Amino acid sequence: MVKETAFYDVLGVSPTASTDELKKAYRKLALKFHPDKNPNEGEKFKLISQAYETLSNPEKRKIYDQGGEQALKEGPTGGGGGFSSPMDIFDMFFGGGLRRNKERRGKDVVHQLTVTLEELHNGTTRKLALQKHVICSKCEGVGGKKPPEKCPSCRGTGMQVRIQQLGPGMVSQVQSMCGECRGQGERINPKDKCKTCEGKKVVRERKILEVNVDKGMEDGQKIMFSGEGDQEPGVEPGDIVVVLDEQEHQTFKRYGNDLSLSMRISLVESLCGFQKPIQTLDDRTLLISAIPGEVIKHGDTKCVMGEGMPQYRNPFEKGRLVIHFQVDFPTKIPVDRIPQLEKILPPRPEVIIPDEAEECQLIEVEASYERNRRRRHQDHMMYDDDDDDEGMHGGRQHVQCQQS
Ligand SMILES: [Zn+2]
Ligand SMILES: [Zn+2]
Repeated sequence: MVKETAFYDVLGVSPTASTDELKKAYRKLALKFHPDKNPNEGEKFKLISQAYETLSNPEKRKIYDQGGEQALKEGPTGGGGGFSSPMDIFDMFFGGGLRRNKERRGKDVVHQLTVTLEELHNGTTRKLALQKHVICSKCEGVGGKKPPEKCPSCRGTGMQVRIQQLGPGMVSQVQSMCGECRGQGERINPKDKCKTCEGKKVVRERKILEVNVDKGMEDGQKIMFSGEGDQEPGVEPGDIVVVLDEQEHQTFKRYGNDLSLSMRISLVESLCGFQKPIQTLDDRTLLISAIPGEVIKHGDTKCVMGEGMPQYRNPFEKGRLVIHFQVDFPTKIPVDRIPQLEKILPPRPEVIIPDEAEECQLIEVEASYERNRRRRHQDHMMYDDDDDDEGMHGGRQHVQCQQS
């Protein structure tokens, strides 16, 4: 048992969640609540990040499970309950390769692409439309006709200094970012401003990315577009990272390279054999059949080799198609047919019944709750003036036999 579930609740997983489940939950939520997409959900983004940071570290997860958030704050690894910045966690999770000279490189932009299981099986090319900043072609990233000049408000420092009166004879200097140049220290003279980008040096552009979804790719897999991130003068653009999000399929579930499906068969099919078609993800029809004389029991599992998902980068190798059988039993048998059935089916096992055996009636468990409720109600009517009524009958077990 874990002490608290708050971190698990934030990620929407159970306390028994595996590392993969944690990753998947973080991935979906972090993309949804990232400040780029949801500027008003900063707090939520932070909580998701803290929960993931804790639970993805086995040591911290153990401390949290045993003692909750308080234990993390006091614990040896908690360092006073400090967390990394949500952006660092995000970049570590989604970031591409190694960061070369981090300062002069723009940030990576992450996009999620929803794909069907069919697309992951067969491979496809998808178009992803997105908005990105590109260097203004009119002014070539200068921002105006002339190069920028020193900001007159802050004289090029990017900061403004204010004198704040704290009390009688007490003042302090407060530094803040210059609002005129937004801390840049330079500005474009308004009359020279580039009309295309309004002096911003970059413009927003719609861009269509062609995303190759290869056979056998999986949920959460990243496809990198190196240097396709937002452009900014003097900065190497970051990457666009496309993260695949596999949609649930109506028929098939995927486990690595295996596909599984649940198939209902009737009792006659289970006993006497059957043939069943299965529509594959690449739109072929497979025909499966039981070996004559073989009985497929409820809960039996069989598989077809080579009809699962293709292996990524080795698509001629395919996993298995695993079929879980569920037998639909008839709810009633006409009584006059029973002798016929008994003649065909294997003989009944012999049962020894002691003389003193008490005969009972079997009823549905559902119906037993209703009977209990009615009985308690009747008892209540009979002993209405008895104060101990609830105590006497409340806990009574009703697994009792009815004498006939
Ligand atoms: Zn411009
Ligand atoms: Zn300024």
